[in-house]
Amino acid sequence: MARYRGSVCRLCRREGMKLFLKGERCFTDKCSIERRNYPPGQHGQDRPKFSDYGVQLREKQKVRRIYGLLERQFRRTVRQAERMKGVKGENLLALLERRLDNVVYRLGFVNSRSEARQLVRHGHFTVNGRRVDIPSYSVRVGDLVGLTPRGKSAARIAEALDALEARTLPSWISVDKEKQQGEILAQPNREEITLPIQEQLIIELYSR
Ligand code: SF4
Repeated sequence: MARYRGSVCRLCRREGMKLFLKGERCFTDKCSIERRNYPPGQHGQDRPKFSDYGVQLREKQKVRRIYGLLERQFRRTVRQAERMKGVKGENLLALLERRLDNVVYRLGFVNSRSEARQLVRHGHFTVNGRRVDIPSYSVRVGDLVGLTPRGKSAARIAEALDALEARTLPSWISVDKEKQQGEILAQPNREEITLPIQEQLIIELYSR
């Protein structure tokens, strides 16, 4: 499937905020947002004026880029959120948070969602003891996320697990470092998504 292969830091600069797409580097002063916090391109330093549509579009692009989805996958997730009971915007964020690639990242097995996606695709993770290599796989409450024998020997995962103490896990998941296993304790919690996201703007965009 086609994927964006350009500079991911450019995406952060376009959205005017850190999207944390590059793991460790995002927390250093090498971060492009720290150095050049204006949109990329020739007119990057001009003052942009956004219409209502433009504001909604930027919000959608921001969230889509944070979770690393293509437009078609993202639209499908929005439609699914709209069919669910409850607040549509919150349903959307919960669906995105429950993706296996996001869960693996949240559990601290890897340093970024793009790395998570790659390692899931390469078959390094299990759900309830069965190997799952689909990044969009939606986990449920009570699921156990672990490592395959290949995953257990992957140096990148071992390094990330060593640094686990430094990370704050959301309350809806827990991790057992000894067993190299995570558990889904509850539904994802909107309050714990700390990035400034206005999800209702995305729903409005797709309702046009
Ligand atoms: Fe974004 Fe990370 Fe690049 Fe900074 S280092 S611009 S947060 S991807």
